[in-house]
Amino acid sequence: MAGTAFTKKLLNWYRKKARKLPWRESQDPYRIWLSEVMLQQTQVDTVIPYYERWLKKYPTLEKVAQASEDEILKLWEGLGYYARARNFHKACQEVVQRYKGKVPSNSDQFSALKGVGPYTLAAVQSIVFQKPLAAIDGNIKRIVSRLLRIDEPPSKALEHIGSFLKKNMSLKNPGDFNQALMDIGATICLPKNPKCLLCPISSDCEAFQFKQAHFYPISEEKNPRPHYRAAVGVVWRGDKLLISKRKSEGFLGGLWEFPGGKIKQGESAKLCVEREVKEEVGVEVEAIHSVGVVKHDYTHFSIEMEGFLCRYLKGSPQTLDCADWKWISFPELKKFAFPTANRKLFPLLPKTNPFSSKKSETKN
Ligand code: SF4
Repeated sequence: MAGTAFTKKLLNWYRKKARKLPWRESQDPYRIWLSEVMLQQTQVDTVIPYYERWLKKYPTLEKVAQASEDEILKLWEGLGYYARARNFHKACQEVVQRYKGKVPSNSDQFSALKGVGPYTLAAVQSIVFQKPLAAIDGNIKRIVSRLLRIDEPPSKALEHIGSFLKKNMSLKNPGDFNQALMDIGATICLPKNPKCLLCPISSDCEAFQFKQAHFYPISEEKNPRPHYRAAVGVVWRGDKLLISKRKSEGFLGGLWEFPGGKIKQGESAKLCVEREVKEEVGVEVEAIHSVGVVKHDYTHFSIEMEGFLCRYLKGSPQTLDCADWKWISFPELKKFAFPTANRKLFPLLPKTNPFSSKKSETKN
């Protein structure tokens, strides 16, 4: 089956207007998979330089499998959603061990790999192996919600959206079908001010016909985004700084940071730092003075973080509530992957120990 009239329109348009993207120059499953992982929740323009840097360092899946998690996270630094990088790294290792480095064309085997959810499964398997699976992301939910004027938020209409895509899926060119919708979502059916007059499927679009594109998709109910106050300690001992590594699982997992945490109600930032450093790495410090407050908006919360220069008092670092710790020199900060809020503190820090201890006692 070649698909419906809608399918033909979509594919004809894609043949003429497909975006030229670096990962479309190759049929290498590894490259296409990598691009789909990077593109989740991230704009194409942001992804391209990361994608190119990544391939320079890791031209093959085997090279990814051989890398350390720290190297992977450093290359990913700033791209956000770090679980994607950790999972992709583990999945590549699994592909090397179980499938001799060949990305499985079997959908069950591919979807069993770490981090491969329904979207990645459908995108990669349709583009690389021509499997007729609909890749449903936010863009595609928006397009279908408008095409059909779906009167409920996309998260409640997944079956409706999925059955429309299934009915129209091209069995011959499922990858092009998915990529055509991806391109329309990214360049024409924009969240605000969709360019309906340029749209190849406007004659199939109810929202366009009723001049209601701006009503769809129906908004999801959102909980207000929480705001946190946190404080971190920049602990100097001799000519070294103390950094700790976040536990692998969870938000920003595997990244390095200055030890610290959320300020409790009624607690001062200074006391928070002294408490958190002790709880996290078992070191007693005196928070001497603030270097300033930085702000950062993550997707699910916003944070304001105060950095304190701390004098080391006593104790050997331990992994009490972290995965690892290190004493490093100031220039070594750039070798490690840090969350963005921590990196915003770097320019505010002195490059040498402000407490001018001459002793370099950082063997513990
Ligand atoms: Fe989106 Fe407009 Fe095309 Fe409908 S006609 S799919 S609203 S761009």
